[in-house]
Amino acid sequence: MNTNISGAGCGTKTGVVGEPGTAARCEAAARPGGATGAVSTALGICGKSAAAIPPDSLSRLEKWELQSYCRQLLPKETIRYCCLRRLPNAEGVNVWRSGLHGSAHYGGLMTCSSVWICPVCAAKIAERRRGELATAIAACRAMGGQVLLASYTVSHARSQLLSETLSAFLAAQRAMAGNRPYKRLTATYGLAGSIKALEVTWGALNGWHPHCHTLLFAPTEIFLPALEEELYVAWLASARRQGLSMNRQRGLQLVVTHGRIDEYVAKWGHGPTRRLWGAEDELTKANSKRGRYGPDGQRGHTPFDLLRWLADTGESQPIALFREYAGVFKGRRQLVWSPGLRVLLGAGEERSDEALAGEVREDGILLATLSPAEWVAVRGRGLRGELLEVARAGDPDELATFVADICADYYGVSREYLLNKI
Ligand SMILES: [Zn+2]
Repeated sequence: MNTNISGAGCGTKTGVVGEPGTAARCEAAARPGGATGAVSTALGICGKSAAAIPPDSLSRLEKWELQSYCRQLLPKETIRYCCLRRLPNAEGVNVWRSGLHGSAHYGGLMTCSSVWICPVCAAKIAERRRGELATAIAACRAMGGQVLLASYTVSHARSQLLSETLSAFLAAQRAMAGNRPYKRLTATYGLAGSIKALEVTWGALNGWHPHCHTLLFAPTEIFLPALEEELYVAWLASARRQGLSMNRQRGLQLVVTHGRIDEYVAKWGHGPTRRLWGAEDELTKANSKRGRYGPDGQRGHTPFDLLRWLADTGESQPIALFREYAGVFKGRRQLVWSPGLRVLLGAGEERSDEALAGEVREDGILLATLSPAEWVAVRGRGLRGELLEVARAGDPDELATFVADICADYYGVSREYLLNKI
């Protein structure tokens, strides 16, 4: 087993072994030769991160570090190029800032578009998908309808491979859509359609835990207990045919979204967001959640928790688990709308993950175009995330000084020379 991954991250290790901490992270910590120690202190970046960078930027920085770990774990996947190499026709790397959202992102770079393994692409795609779902939920409510969130799972054991558990779970989900009890309840309640999101977590006691969250769009208010019981019957019948079992409490849970589902999410995980966590977040931001402790006292690790675990401890177990997960989930769809629902709710045509990963915000302002030499220095020092943090302030001069400092350090020349020459 390959365990030649660097050890603790830039942040202070706060968790016990096997329990990832929540400290500040920086990409440089994951990169051999990245900005560390005296270099980072001189640049005023990694060394001051905990004190000077606002708390909400920590998860933004973390995704760049986790991407670097993932790249080392999966060197044959396209993530090895993601947000590192320039597109063939791009002369430089553009730094865009959205005035409306206060965010910053790159343009002119290759992206891997993987919602499963790439923390950078997953964050960007999830935010765009979240907007679509929020619009759909609002449209249903505006028509007098009700949106429900159904969560399905099955019992599983530590000894089971993810490939086995997942294929049986998905076969049961497919079968349920066509079985008689489900068709009957769909007609009875007039359900207009659904949006299904696939997720998985891993726990030390019971192993892989595949599950899905499904939004159900109803034309009117529904008596929840009756529908939940009928859904459970339909789900149980399909699961049993695949040799799966479940307990009544966890096999199916049904809630009304009401725009916020905090109580429900508290049982499954939470996300780093200041907004109320809505149903649209639950379906699109599975990977940004941190797993929490379940009723059995065991912590469920999301896939990116496995990378955090690796970053905190350097242990081999999360490496094996993440590679198993990446192989099984490669090529799968994360979010599936039922036929006709987009038209019904005016959600427009579905855009691909590739299109969303490379999208530039409509209100984006071009703050800078980095030359190839500047980009080599930024990525060489592992400071892609930190540069965007500076860009969020929207000051081109501050950004130019920041880039000059990185280049001065990387190429061994003075900042003044670079500011005059580049
Ligand atoms: Zn990516």
